[in-house]
Amino acid sequence: MGNSVLDIVQQWSGKTFREESIGRSYEGRDIRAFTFGDGRAKVLAWSQMHGNEPTSTLALLDVLNRIEEDKTMKKLLRHSITLTAIPLLNPDGCIRHDRRNAQGIDINRDAQSLISPEAKILMSAWERLHPDFAYNLHDQETRYTTLYPPTPTLIAMLAPECSHDKAITPARERAMKLIAHTAKHLDNICDGAKGRIARYDDVYTPTAFGDTFMQLGTSSILIEAGSMPGDPERTHARAAMSMAIIKGLEAIAQHQFEANTVQEYDSLPLNKDFDGLEMILEGIAIHDSLGNYQADLGIRRVKTSCNPEDFIDDSHDLRVMNIGDLSSTPSIIRTKLNGYTLKGTHKDLYIGCKTSEITLVAPDGSCINAYTLIENNTRDFDSDKTK
Ligand SMILES: [Zn+2]
Repeated sequence: MGNSVLDIVQQWSGKTFREESIGRSYEGRDIRAFTFGDGRAKVLAWSQMHGNEPTSTLALLDVLNRIEEDKTMKKLLRHSITLTAIPLLNPDGCIRHDRRNAQGIDINRDAQSLISPEAKILMSAWERLHPDFAYNLHDQETRYTTLYPPTPTLIAMLAPECSHDKAITPARERAMKLIAHTAKHLDNICDGAKGRIARYDDVYTPTAFGDTFMQLGTSSILIEAGSMPGDPERTHARAAMSMAIIKGLEAIAQHQFEANTVQEYDSLPLNKDFDGLEMILEGIAIHDSLGNYQADLGIRRVKTSCNPEDFIDDSHDLRVMNIGDLSSTPSIIRTKLNGYTLKGTHKDLYIGCKTSEITLVAPDGSCINAYTLIENNTRDFDSDKTK
């Protein structure tokens, strides 16, 4: 996926945008910026400073395409905002499918020292534009959820802190209000968004860009694309992220968000690292020479990549992580499989076994692979199945 995102960014251009090369990555890859409009409100948006987070780049390009194609929006924004977008700030990381740049540096912890060329490029873009607003776009790990029962986060937003005392400066207050406004609108226009727009939980990180820009007086907004079950390509999160930016730009252009409150921001559900199971298959029958019983299987996505920071979905395995009565165990999805029988013996079922190696016999006698069954059950994920 990494290479194709790089290709898409390198080939992108729009008639409405002023396009320029703003520098090169450590390994010499071109980093491009696209600027639109001549309005007073300045907005800087960048994506994929973490190379293995491609959803953010695709969402940002969706925003540029929308501005390019939607005449009404173009008219609304053109003289109200000046938007500079930098899709794919970390092309070297993108090629490697790695969070960090080619030097092994996390660009989002390099806002003060500016050791990496990519961090220097972002800081130069800020110095040139002096943005009123900044959109900092990421993908988050798969197991983040909002409520209890755990509901996968569609997107999480944050107005980062800009000091250890959690002070609400004017810049931070504007960001909080804009996020509250955006969340409210996404609830209405974005399919399945209700309860899944979260407030990202974070502490002050002086070396991060959002926190640094906030301290410099820019209202910074972090958006993290989440992962919905059955949507490893994160198409839902991509759509929600691009809609969040578009709603934000409209609100900035029309001064629509100032009536929103910090309390509304605070009351968004918190984005939590979910420690439970992803799915429970309930009531599987096991018959072998030693006994007959029914058990629930708890399934969790397990990373198979050797890089601990590499969490994009194409390097996972669905494994059995619990067996027995799981009626009181938290899980994102539950699927009743009464009437299904394990093909094999109790020895084929153990903690850590791959679901792709388990075969179940359906009530009609047909055999189905457990991994395939799970994929089929999560593909049409909707809120009713979270219970
Ligand atoms: Zn990130």
